[in-house]
Amino acid sequence: MSLIKSFKPCHITTLRTTIQALFTLFCLYFGWQFYQFYLWCLGERASFVPRPAAVEAFLPISGLVNLKQLIITGVYDPIHPASLTIFMAVLLIALLLRKGFCGWICPVGFTSNLVEKLAQRLGLLYRLPDWLSYPLLSLKYLLLGFFFYIIVIKMSMAAIEQFSKTPYNIASDAKMLLFFLQPTTTTLWVMGFLVLVSFFSRNFWCRFLCPYGALLGILALASPLRINRDAEKCIDCQKCTKICPASITVASKKNILSPDCIGCGECIGVCPKEDCLSLQIWGGTKIPFLILPLAMLLILFAFYGWAVFTGHWQSQVPLPVLKQYFQMAAELGHP
Ligand code: SF4
Ligand code: SF4
Repeated sequence: MSLIKSFKPCHITTLRTTIQALFTLFCLYFGWQFYQFYLWCLGERASFVPRPAAVEAFLPISGLVNLKQLIITGVYDPIHPASLTIFMAVLLIALLLRKGFCGWICPVGFTSNLVEKLAQRLGLLYRLPDWLSYPLLSLKYLLLGFFFYIIVIKMSMAAIEQFSKTPYNIASDAKMLLFFLQPTTTTLWVMGFLVLVSFFSRNFWCRFLCPYGALLGILALASPLRINRDAEKCIDCQKCTKICPASITVASKKNILSPDCIGCGECIGVCPKEDCLSLQIWGGTKIPFLILPLAMLLILFAFYGWAVFTGHWQSQVPLPVLKQYFQMAAELGHP
């Protein structure tokens, strides 16, 4: 407890960067492991490497489909159970701790932050005018609405059950791997555009286009936590507004209730006035900022531990079937 209380806001950036870097390294590690498993399936690697279930963290659409199935039928998807486990953990994190997943865990968010910092050093970042920002901010909600309509409203349970047994769904993680290993010309152009534009407009993908982030932002509206600014202590230096990765004008707000706040705490870390910016819970009680990342990690690892313990982590698809579908993955089209 004394560690939590003695944690200094000026260390928030270091802590956040360390946690983000560790999660990104972990993703690269299991990505490499998954690639070795894929090579084994193709017969291009002699020794067997187990398939890391954590790779399903990159299947959030599967998580959404499986959550609908779980709510309606009570069936926990046996094909991609880890995608459902991780998806539910991330939703709970958003409900309780704002978009902490985006700010502290997501490797795409970390990469975007690195590009942002580099662009800042090069003096390239440009703050988009409101008349352009607002329509762009709505794009991710349109994408989320599209997925919500297709999956939650339109897709019947019979269609979900039929789809989940298809080779395409079973090998969807292999399809995702191929998306990165064998990108089409369109994919390369789109990715190149997103990287380029991120040098001029901070966190372009996360702020304007990511439908996962849009969903978490909506849930975060119900979160009991928010960043609060004490206007009496504020000296209007604007440092918080300048550093905010979500481009929120922190210096002009009392409470940050925006669905775009990623709970990164950068504003608290940079503020020169002690206790001017703080993390507060409903009712206005201040709580130590370190509680946010610690609680987030606790939720994530609690879900992981529970899933491993109850058999909701590893896929139940028999290895020979997986191997067969992975060999066909490049030819599989959406049913
Ligand atoms: S308001 Fe503060 S905590 Fe929220 S995104 Fe901006 S810098 Fe991070
Ligand atoms: S960094 Fe702190 S003092 Fe400066 S404008 Fe923001 S809240 Fe006020």
